[in-house]
Amino acid sequence: MLQVFKNCVASSLLKTNKRLIAVQSRSMGKLDGKVAVVTASTEGIGLAIAKKLGKDGAHVVISSRKQKNVDKALQELKAENLSVSGMVCHVGNGDHRKALFEKAVSDFGGLDILVSNAAVNPYFGTLITTPEQAFDKIMEINVKAAYLLVKEAAPYMEKRGKGSIVLVSSIGGLVPFSMLGAYSISKTALLGMNKVLSSELAPNNIRVNCIAPGIIKTKFSGALWTSPEQKEIIESTNPMNRLGEPDECAGIVSFLCSEEASFITGETIVIAGGAQSRL
Ligand code: NAP
Repeated sequence: MLQVFKNCVASSLLKTNKRLIAVQSRSMGKLDGKVAVVTASTEGIGLAIAKKLGKDGAHVVISSRKQKNVDKALQELKAENLSVSGMVCHVGNGDHRKALFEKAVSDFGGLDILVSNAAVNPYFGTLITTPEQAFDKIMEINVKAAYLLVKEAAPYMEKRGKGSIVLVSSIGGLVPFSMLGAYSISKTALLGMNKVLSSELAPNNIRVNCIAPGIIKTKFSGALWTSPEQKEIIESTNPMNRLGEPDECAGIVSFLCSEEASFITGETIVIAGGAQSRL
């Protein structure tokens, strides 16, 4: 009789424990306690990434060039009870970049994750007709600033013993967009940068990966699909017959930054509804 009673108690304790573990694992995010900096994160893909990292448990520092955009995005993210702070950071400005990382340390105690998302495209036309100034601007923001952000973030991650970096490239870096030659080249450069930095930083336990979105519905790509006719043409060339949404880029970034991707570095994930990119 006593044995039966003991078995019943043991089995009910086991069930309770299993339930507790299930509840705990549901409430634990895969980025719990991590500190993330996301550049160009007050709208579009960057904002969607910041939101997802926050929902997965990270403290997130958002930024962009305009204070009013930072304020608006902070309001949106705080309304979802996410742990966020933010400031102006034009990624081409060294003082801004320095202050951004210092803010991550002063607000949340360190830096574990960097998502380099800023890019510009001031010219639409052939590569050969691209004005030198426009070419320089594209390389300065899309390539050089991304490189400097990684260079400046790495020492903070080394202090933590590990880190994860995601560079936002584009499918145009794999298959150049026509009339967006300089922009496409800048995105190809990020694919190369990803390979070099991932192998250089691997011994420091810092992983570097890339995402290469297809055409995603944001202000940035708006010129390509604002008229219904253009939108139809663009959609009809995509195997999934539609444009992507910013949220569809966010989950994969969170995955790449998490322990679930602990043996993945130097990779590029295409998020493009099946658009041709490579074999
Ligand atoms: P978006 O919706 O237009 O948002 C751009 C964001 O960047 C804004 O928060 C803007 O805020 C900020 N920003 C612009 N220049 C900046 C700078 N120099 N320094 C810091 N912040 C800056 O753009 P998006 O489409 O999400 O694009 C984000 C990234 O995805 C880019 O790297 C882009 O190349 C890449 N991408 C986009 C697509 C697409 O179809 N949308 C496809 C492939 C790749 P402020 O104005 O306040 O600075």
